[in-house]
Parts: sequence; structure tokens; C-alpha cells
Amino acid sequence: MERTLIANNHYAKAKYESLKPKIEGMKTGGSVFEDCPRCYTNACQVEEEVPRLTSRRCLVCFHSGMQLQIDCPECGDSDQYVEPYDGFSCDKCDCEVKGDSEIFDLIDQNRYRGTKDGLDADTPANCDECQGYHTVCEYEGGYLCTNCFAHFDAVGQCQWCNDPMTGETEHTYVTGCEHCEGYAGHHADD
Ligand SMILES: [Zn+2]
Ligand SMILES: [Zn+2]
Ligand SMILES: [Zn+2]
Ligand SMILES: [Zn+2]
Repeated sequence: MERTLIANNHYAKAKYESLKPKIEGMKTGGSVFEDCPRCYTNACQVEEEVPRLTSRRCLVCFHSGMQLQIDCPECGDSDQYVEPYDGFSCDKCDCEVKGDSEIFDLIDQNRYRGTKDGLDADTPANCDECQGYHTVCEYEGGYLCTNCFAHFDAVGQCQWCNDPMTGETEHTYVTGCEHCEGYAGHHADD
């Protein structure tokens, strides 16, 4: 076990050395790199996709992940993070948020939800990246899936069931979306 670890680490270091000119070039161009939590080389590229949503991808071992920075709803600590497909637990207090709709409410920025003005919102939308049902909320002027953290500039609407969705809507009247059968499916049993 230890021997493989050493071998892997040796391999990672060698790969890092060969990528170093490229990485240094990217740093000069403004890219940010951190030490990778898996292979420990400084090849983990950090990108802020939208405010407070960062993605990490290691050029050496391809370890990747996303994190959304949030303020703890109980103690207000701003150094807290949620990861895709995961609940939230604060490490400053004992606040825990679990469950899809609870995480949705935690991240969602639609201030009118639940009121009369919230009725014509185009969220919650369905996510076509993770097939999540009603997982996409409003976030920083765009849309964010609270399941897989995919970010979208716009959402469309299924032309058959009228559910808001993130994927291509062009043929949805006939084919339906991930969550309905469309005209063709609806009439298939006739
Ligand atoms: Zn790595
Ligand atoms: Zn807290
Ligand atoms: Zn998703
Ligand atoms: Zn549909």
C-alpha cells in the first residue's frame, strides 16, 4: 500500500514537472492553482465560474470538484461550503441542512418565492445535466442546479408539459422532456 502511494506520488511529481512550463504560463495568464488534495502537486486549477461558485480540476491526477461558498443560515459564518449532491453542515456551529428541497431553499435567490409575485418565476426548473427534477434555482442573475451545481445563463420551457428546463427545448412538443412523454408518447397508447 505504502509502496504504491510512494510510486503514485513519484509519478505525480514527474508529471507535474513535465506540466510545469504550461502551468507557469497559465499562471502568468491569470490562472490560479492550489495544491491538489489528492496528489499534493500544485496543479489544481481553481476557477470562479460565477460569484462564490468555484470549480477545481487537477491537471496531474484529474481530481475535480465544485464548491459553493455560503453563509451559515444559523451563525452567519461566511467561510462555509456546500458540495454537489451533498448536504450542508457548518463547522462553526451545529447547523445542518439535509434534503434536496432544503438545499434548494438554502441556495435559491428568488426573493418572491412563495408569494403571489413568485408564481410566474421560471424556477424551480429541471436540470438536464443531472436529470434533477425541480433542482434549478435562481442564482446571481443566472440559474444554478442545487444538485450538480451546473450553471446556466437561461432556462427554457418544455413545450408539452410547460415545466421550466435547462436543455434544448426545440422538439419537446413532440418528444417531451426528461419528465414527460410529449405529444408522441401521449398518443402512443391510443
Ligand atoms: Zn492532483
Ligand atoms: Zn454555523
Ligand atoms: Zn443538475
Ligand atoms: Zn415536459
